[in-house]
Amino acid sequence: MIKTKAYAAHSSTGALAPFELHRRNPGAEDVQIEILYCGVCHSDLHTARGEWHNTQYPCVPGHEIVGRVVAVGDGVRGFKVGDLAGVGCMIDSCGHCHSCHEGDEQYCENGFTGTYNGPVFGGENTFGGYSRTIVVKESFVLHVRHDEKDLARVAPLLCAGITTYSPLRHWGAGPGRKVGIVGLGGLGHMGVKIAHALGAHVVLFTTSPGKSDDGKQLGADVVCISTSPEQMAAQANQLDFILNTVAAPHDLDAYLQLLKRDGTMALVGAPAEPHPPSNVFNLIFKRRRIAGSLIGGIKETQEMLDFCADHQILSDVETIPIDYINTAYERMLKSDVKYRFVIDMASL
Ligand code: NAP
Ligand code: ZN
Repeated sequence: MIKTKAYAAHSSTGALAPFELHRRNPGAEDVQIEILYCGVCHSDLHTARGEWHNTQYPCVPGHEIVGRVVAVGDGVRGFKVGDLAGVGCMIDSCGHCHSCHEGDEQYCENGFTGTYNGPVFGGENTFGGYSRTIVVKESFVLHVRHDEKDLARVAPLLCAGITTYSPLRHWGAGPGRKVGIVGLGGLGHMGVKIAHALGAHVVLFTTSPGKSDDGKQLGADVVCISTSPEQMAAQANQLDFILNTVAAPHDLDAYLQLLKRDGTMALVGAPAEPHPPSNVFNLIFKRRRIAGSLIGGIKETQEMLDFCADHQILSDVETIPIDYINTAYERMLKSDVKYRFVIDMASL
């Protein structure tokens, strides 16, 4: 077994604190990665604090992992010691159901294994990226082709990147399409960058007027302050697709009214409490849809990483030491992060 330092939550109310855990020795198909950076996703906070009522403690969050390969099993063909590598939100799935065959392991019909809090669908607990090393089977390890100096800014692609790329591709964001992104946080800022790179006309919706200039720089064609009835009214019936990343319950009707006929709003934000009920007539009268989307499959995650490397897309990050994590969570709750915290694991 490999002993490694980590940071863990031990209860829904306690602060995260130093912890020690063991990783398995790499088997024939395994890759061992020295973790260099790990992004801080709002899902880490929801899980550490038990907000989804499914947390197994101790909980070591972190599913935006990048680092360097330090060991590989005999059967590993795609990675060698010294390579840069990434791990996202999943480390295993059944591999034989319809979804797995289609490369949609995130929708595995027998339940995928999360990088942390793995037993959501059964099985043992798993420990995530707030640690120094991780051992993952090769088929769930991603190739990082970005420049090594940009590594901290690559980490958030492993969740925020794929969670926005996948629905933007699925619902056809591209030239001639008007796409709304709701919320300029970790997911939202990647959504703006990726939708812009795909060629869509991007309208950013934010509750924070102070983020307007950033929104434009990140690639939004229009920034709409969602608390302004006039600015919202100007977007009515305009959008083909909306990607809603907000981490708190809010009025969905305000956004549904902005969709054209046959438009879709995909929810990726996963608040602990339900959204207030919405008015069915907003759907019926224009055949609009509300949808959801979960991260993305491994093949698509690699495609997204390569797309971001080709388009020089990186996350905008604030790099922090691990002992800042509890403060970082509090700031994230105040929407006070530009636009992703990333932990420098050398601080652990
Ligand atoms: P984040 O960095 O905290 O960003 C959320 C943004 O939502 C905030 O920056 C803020 O943007 C907006 N917001 C927050 N509270 C709001 C409120 N009360 N009303 C309106 N807007 C509000 O979070 P994140 O890491 O991007 O994650 C967002 C959500 O997605 C979380 O619930 C997370 O668990 C979920 N998630 C889902 C998936 C998936 O696969 N579906 C994957 C990863 C994360 P403005 O200041 O611009 O308004
Ligand atoms: Zn995440």
